[in-house]
Amino acid sequence: MRISDKPIAARLKELGVELRPGVPLREKTSLGIGGTTDQLLLRRFETIPEVMHLLANEKIPHRFLGGGTNVLIADGELPYVVLHLPTSQPGMRVEGNAAYVDAAADLGGMVTFCAKRDLGGMEGLIGVPGSVGGALRMNAGAYGTQIGSYVREVELYRAATGKLETLRGDDIRFDYRHTSFAPDDVMLRVKLELPSKPFKDILAVIKVCNEKRRASQPLNQKSAGCIFKNPPGGSAGRMIDELGLKGHRVGDAMVSDRHANFFVNVANASCADMLRLIDEVRERVRVTYGIELENEVIFWKN
Ligand SMILES: Cc1cc2nc3c(=O)[nH]c(=O)nc-3n(C[C@H](O)[C@H](O)[C@H](O)COP(=O)(O)OP(=O)(O)OC[C@H]3O[C@@H](n4cnc5c(N)ncnc54)[C@H](O)[C@@H]3O)c2cc1C
Repeated sequence: MRISDKPIAARLKELGVELRPGVPLREKTSLGIGGTTDQLLLRRFETIPEVMHLLANEKIPHRFLGGGTNVLIADGELPYVVLHLPTSQPGMRVEGNAAYVDAAADLGGMVTFCAKRDLGGMEGLIGVPGSVGGALRMNAGAYGTQIGSYVREVELYRAATGKLETLRGDDIRFDYRHTSFAPDDVMLRVKLELPSKPFKDILAVIKVCNEKRRASQPLNQKSAGCIFKNPPGGSAGRMIDELGLKGHRVGDAMVSDRHANFFVNVANASCADMLRLIDEVRERVRVTYGIELENEVIFWKN
């Protein structure tokens, strides 16, 4: 969707929004898949309510993109604009056991920043790519850690009220790759409370997690991490592996031969290729195991 030639573009600029016309989102996602649209960088948090109000008034649909590491975006010209928080110099500070971090910050960068100040707990999240905002939305987790366990407050634009608000951690539900935020809420900052731990002990755990990841995941290929959520008590990857589907391909979309729940874009896969691969694998699992796998990756339909 192109809005740079519309009157709203000038008003957005006054509100501190940087408009980047015609951005190919395949360049902004870890899967290397995604069509083209205008991107709006929200540089001033205090104007976000007015920006949202303007977009609603002008009936301009929008989606929010963080680090782009957990989304599968349709091909072609997209019928919505994409909002994004600027990532240069996001704020991070520590006071006692509390860490205050901007949602635009890199998740791994935040784990390291806190570790250097002897705050641990989040070691398992070290290799999870993407932003802090995306991790909050998804309740990112790995190796027994999930970000939601440490959240004490979230500052956000709340779609329900159209205002900037602060939610207490206790008032947010963090489940397995699911949270109670509304689809149009925009996370801006978080306060985490982390246990004290010496840096060298944190580093030792981080090293183990990094080694596990390197040994089991196709980290040098384009992916969005796990495609499916694990069903209760089971492992999606193990079922797909047992079905002999590692290496199974639709066009340039392929089930990784390292980790069966990672689907990779081996060259120039389209969203349609990836969707067909997802459907085929889901169907094979359903027929054999009687389990309907649910997507972990978020699909942005047109
Ligand atoms: C190699 C690899 C390994 C991975 N390993 C793991 C893992 O171990 N554990 C795990 O949990 N995930 C893993 N993932 C998936 C992904 O990294 C996480 O889900 C990550 O937290 C997504 O963050 P993001 O900023 O990239 O979000 P995006 O992909 O940009 O967005 C994901 C969702 O969050 C929303 N969102 C993003 N930022 C905000 C914001 N500020 N406000 C409101 N909504 C927002 C988007 O609208 C979208 O709905 C992996 C991915 C890859 C590529």
